[in-house]
Amino acid sequence: MLDRGLVVILLGPPGVGKGTQGLRLAAVFGWERLVTGDLLRAARQEGTEVGRRAGRYMDEGELVPDDVMVALFEERMAGLPDGPGILLDGFPRTVAQAEALACAFSRPVDAVVLLKASEDVLVRRISGRRSCATCGCIYNIYFDPPGSEGVCDGCGEVLTHREDDTAETVRRRLRVYVEQTEPLIDYYGARGEVLRVDGEGSPDEVQAGLEASLASHFGASA
Ligand code: AMP
Repeated sequence: MLDRGLVVILLGPPGVGKGTQGLRLAAVFGWERLVTGDLLRAARQEGTEVGRRAGRYMDEGELVPDDVMVALFEERMAGLPDGPGILLDGFPRTVAQAEALACAFSRPVDAVVLLKASEDVLVRRISGRRSCATCGCIYNIYFDPPGSEGVCDGCGEVLTHREDDTAETVRRRLRVYVEQTEPLIDYYGARGEVLRVDGEGSPDEVQAGLEASLASHFGASA
């Protein structure tokens, strides 16, 4: 059984800003982040067995099987240093994963936060996303373009477009989210409060909404 600081789940559809906001919240609260999409992309680059098994599901916008994800999650959790909290981004994504998470901890999760945005906003955010593999900066050709097209402002590296960020795959990922991940809203709703935060504003506005919601939740439950 794992028993660490706070455990906070960041739920929401692809493109809603979990990555950007997760980084900000982790910096503000000193939390560790566990980001399963990043773990899988790294595993693919390294050519590990997990990476090979996950690759075709990721390219098609489908979920990687639960047994692979639960094993990866448990292995990474065990390796995280102790600290004030852990922010889970991208896990759980199915009810089976949520049940595995519940078995791994000795108590319920401390907060479940749902970031929301309309489908049109999500599709433009994802299909316009470009990132820098060198320094991690994220841009959007519609909302937040770099100064020179296709080049990172920070380090001058050529920006990349994730293979699963095409409009067609994005629609499939959104459908998969509705079918397989949205049931988690009811799952966690039945076990406590799900904090709902508007993800459509600017990154600063969304961050302010998240911090206010978490502050009132932890203030109320303290
Ligand atoms: P993300 O970067 O969170 O959008 O994840 C990219 C892809 O990784 C997803 O479309 C899935 O194929 C896979 N993935 C990430 N996390 C999970 C998970 N918890 N369960 C199943 N597949 C996942």
